[in-house]
Amino acid sequence: MDLLEYQGKQYFARYGIPVSPGGVADTVDEAVAVAEKVGYPVVIKAQVQVGGRGKQGGIKLANNVDEVREHAHFILNLVIKDRHGNGYPVRRVWVEKASDIAEEYYASFTLDRSAKKHLGMLSARGGVDIEQVAATEPEAIAYIRVNPSEGLSEATCREWVQAANLNPKAEDGAVAILLSLYRCYTEGDAGLAEINPLILTPDGKVHALDAKVSLDDAAAYRHQEVWNAFEGLEPHDERERAAAEKDLQYVGLEGSVGIIANGAGLAMSTVDIVNQVGGKPANFLDIGGGANADRMVDALTVINDDENVQAIFINIFGGITRCDEIANGIVEAMQRVTLRAPLVVRLDGTNAVEGRAILQANQSDRLIMQPDMLTAAKKAVEIAAKN
Ligand code: GDP
Ligand code: MN
Repeated sequence: MDLLEYQGKQYFARYGIPVSPGGVADTVDEAVAVAEKVGYPVVIKAQVQVGGRGKQGGIKLANNVDEVREHAHFILNLVIKDRHGNGYPVRRVWVEKASDIAEEYYASFTLDRSAKKHLGMLSARGGVDIEQVAATEPEAIAYIRVNPSEGLSEATCREWVQAANLNPKAEDGAVAILLSLYRCYTEGDAGLAEINPLILTPDGKVHALDAKVSLDDAAAYRHQEVWNAFEGLEPHDERERAAAEKDLQYVGLEGSVGIIANGAGLAMSTVDIVNQVGGKPANFLDIGGGANADRMVDALTVINDDENVQAIFINIFGGITRCDEIANGIVEAMQRVTLRAPLVVRLDGTNAVEGRAILQANQSDRLIMQPDMLTAAKKAVEIAAKN
């Protein structure tokens, strides 16, 4: 689960990392109420899971109530794009007391899998894209690799801060924050905990002006309280939310060919092949192993709710899952769900012959079987283009 900025800040605050006082708002009036409470000037910030909000008008300073109204109205009607061009409509803003900035730094922890250690990155060049700093000024980033069984000592942390050449005035504050950041990253089973920018104020205080925290879904059971606090608040893609409730691995895309495959690898290849033959996938959906009729109904229901879908490509390679079971599942699912688009099915692997026979017996212009992945992809794209 990726936390929104304000959730990340609430999470940081639990570990004593200083953040600015503020509150969330879903309407202009709520934004005004928060601003009046924290005092001017305030910063109004779009809450979406995308970086670079500032450049897209998603972060604005307001000096008085009129400016809060104007900027909150603007930002709440904004659609912020990620680097792939996907749009995220802003449904919520975070309004916080504006900070005076003397310097902007970058700090993060992630996992370095090959070193089997936690990787800390710290730079005096903050507030900008860290990939850009890494590319143009690699020496401006100080790295630290922490053995998880040893942890991060204060002495090591201080050496790291010194290596990053932060302003000496920021040293004590940065050390304290980084030790806390390490704790919240490890104790929370996070995959990423990032502060960009971490700022030094003119009066010598260090604090987090942004927060990016990604918590490992597989460890959710260890942090029930944290998950209950933050889950469901994310203004997700509606389709992704519905799919997650059904335990399906689903990612919404912008195209017209709905995709169901078993296994993440095959699902990705299916997305690729649809693109390759000139189509646009509507989604990525991994139905997983043991795809029975109920799971097929769930998967088809999620895809069916996407009004862009003009054809549905089911690509199954039977392993432990048998193709005859899948075929029965598809036939049963078609009786239970009224599909908005025809199905194109490719079945291969365990019991493929039996599975194909079942589909053959039920073939129509709504259920089209194809012998292999490429032909099936072409057929699905052709149907989607026609409709
Ligand atoms: P991002 O663009 O999505 O990463 O959003 P950030 O929260 O990192 O904000 C982007 C930039 O806006 C920061 O690097 C700051 O330069 C500026 N900014 C954000 N909050 C404040 C604030 O309270 N005061 C001032 N002066 N600038 C701010
Ligand atoms: Mn940022």
